[in-house]
Amino acid sequence: IEMLKRCNISAVEVRLPEDLNDVDGLIIPGGESTTIGNLMRRSSLDKEIIKKHRNGMALYGTCAGAILLAKDIVGSRQPRLNLLDISVKRNDYGRQIDSFEAELKVDKIGKVKGVFIRAPVIEKVYDGVKILAKLDNKPVLIQKNNILASTFHPELTEDRRVHEYFIGMVKNS
Ligand code: GLN
Repeated sequence: IEMLKRCNISAVEVRLPEDLNDVDGLIIPGGESTTIGNLMRRSSLDKEIIKKHRNGMALYGTCAGAILLAKDIVGSRQPRLNLLDISVKRNDYGRQIDSFEAELKVDKIGKVKGVFIRAPVIEKVYDGVKILAKLDNKPVLIQKNNILASTFHPELTEDRRVHEYFIGMVKNS
């Protein structure tokens, strides 16, 4: 929310389906994907997100948010939105203590500092998913139509360009 304010975009917290009423684009943040997924299911926020997305709402998932967008989560049956044709492996860089930063080269944007916090690894992407940045030959920022997903946290840096890219996607959809 702080990052969106810095980009001159008004932002609200979304916890329940009705919170989406005036929302044009949704960022699903980091956290624990099992917890977020269970809460989404309990309140039917998942159904409302899917419905609004079908009507054009752009989505951006960071880290746990990217896991929640995925169709396939290796070895897990946890609740998810199932909107992005990728396969992810949770916690594949190791434990919290193995979190790290790395310089990334992002398509159309340039050099970006990637903050990876107990991040997942995107193992596979399927038809139509564009890879915008890679680390160690694995995708870390991807896009399909009006869905963006990153395994890192650009909101934890001063650099607004990834969010501005998403805001552009929201405006276009
Ligand atoms: N490890 C978390 C998960 O698998 C994701 C961590 C994060 O969002 N930074 O759900």
